[in-house]
Amino acid sequence: MTKPLFVQKYGGSSVADTDCLRRVASRVASDVRDGRNVVVVVSAMGKTTDRLIAMAREVHANPNDREYDQLLSTGEQITISLLSMALHHQGIDAVSMTGAQAGIRTDASHTKAKIIAIDPKRVQENLDRDRVVIVAGFQGVNPDMDVATLGRGGSDLTAVAMAAALKADRCQIFTDVDGVYTADPRVVPNARKLDVITFDEMLEFASMGAKVLQSRSVEFAKKFGVELEVLTSFETKPGTLVNEAEQMEDVLVRGVTADKNQAKVTLRGVDDTPGVAARLFTAVAEAGVNVDVIVQNISLEGHTDISFTVPREDVDKVQICLKKIEGVNFREELYDGSIAKVSLVGVGMRSHTGVASKVFSTLADLKVNIQMISTSEIRVSVVIDEKLADEATRALHAAFDLDQGPEPA
Ligand code: ASP
Ligand code: MG
Repeated sequence: MTKPLFVQKYGGSSVADTDCLRRVASRVASDVRDGRNVVVVVSAMGKTTDRLIAMAREVHANPNDREYDQLLSTGEQITISLLSMALHHQGIDAVSMTGAQAGIRTDASHTKAKIIAIDPKRVQENLDRDRVVIVAGFQGVNPDMDVATLGRGGSDLTAVAMAAALKADRCQIFTDVDGVYTADPRVVPNARKLDVITFDEMLEFASMGAKVLQSRSVEFAKKFGVELEVLTSFETKPGTLVNEAEQMEDVLVRGVTADKNQAKVTLRGVDDTPGVAARLFTAVAEAGVNVDVIVQNISLEGHTDISFTVPREDVDKVQICLKKIEGVNFREELYDGSIAKVSLVGVGMRSHTGVASKVFSTLADLKVNIQMISTSEIRVSVVIDEKLADEATRALHAAFDLDQGPEPA
C-alpha cells in the first residue's frame, strides 16, 4: 500500500533558531513514524532574508538581479541542511535539496521568477526509498542555470507547486498563527478561527494584507486543486482548511479585514476626454505601481475628479510619474496616506443581497465617513480614515455576528 504524502512548509518564524529546527524535526519524525511520506519545504531562518537584503544594499544601492538572487537563495540553504542533520539525529533518513536539485525550473525573471515546470523525479526517487526530502523554498533554476528567487513569501509557492507536481494528499503550511481568523485577533478579541475557507475568499484575504499566505500560492493551489491547511508549528491542533467545498456557499460573510498599507491619490479637475484614464493608469502601471480602488466622478463642464489607491510605499513613484505624464491635464493632486481599506469577504455574497447596505448603515451608526467604495462578487470594501479602521472592523464583525459561527445565507 502506498503511504499518504504530505508536503509541509515551515515559515521563517517556525525555523528561527536551532531549537525551533529541532522542534520541527520532531514533528516531521512523528509524521514519518505514523506512516507518512513527507516533503518539507522551508524558509530562511527568522529574519535572514531581510538581513541579506540589507547587506546587499550596504554594498550597492541597486544590486544586480542575478547576484541578488544568488545571495538571497542562501538563506533557505542554511535551513535545509540543518534540518536534515536534525532529522538524522532523530534517526530519520532525510536528504536536503536546493530548488535546482529538486527540479524546480523558473522563467528568466530574476527576483520574482515564475515556476514554469517541476521535474519531481529525484524527489520521488528519494520518497520511494522512504526518505524525507527537504526542499529549499523560494528558489528555482532558470533557463541559464542561474538561481532565481520567487518573490517575498515565495516558499509558500514552492510548497504548493511541489504538492501539485507530486500529487500530494495535502499541503500543510505551518506558521506562527494557528489558522485563518474572521478578523485580526489583535483588533477583534472575539475573532474566531475558521475551520474552512474557499480559495477565492483566501485570495481576497491574502491580497488585502492578511499576511498568512502568499497570494500567488493561493492562485496556484486553486488552479491545481491542491488542498491547503494553515496551522501553527508551535502546538498540535487542527488549523484552517483552504479548499473548494460546495456547502461553503451557505456562508454570507466569512470575515472582515483591514488593509492599512494604502494611500489615496486624488487628481482634481482632470480633462474628461477619451484616453485620459488610459494614459494615466498606463503611466502608473509602467512606474511599477499596483492600483487598487479607482473612483471617477461624472464630469462638470468637461472636468472631473479621479481618486485611486496605491501601496503607501509607492506614493513617491506616483508623484514622479505624475510630474512627467503627458496628455493628462489636471488642476491639482492630493495625497492622503492615512486611509485604510476595510473589506468584508464571503462567497455567499454571490447569491445574496443586502451586505453592502448593512456595511454602510453600520458605519453610519459609528459616524464613519466612507471615502471610496469598491466591490467584487464576493467582497465589499470601503476606504475610510485609518484612525477609525479598528473600530469599524469591530463593529462590522459584530454586525454580521462573525463571532457566532457561520451565518446561514
Ligand atoms: N525567505 C523568503 C522571504 O522571507 C521566502 C519565504 O519566507 O517564503 O520572503
Ligand atoms: Mg515567509
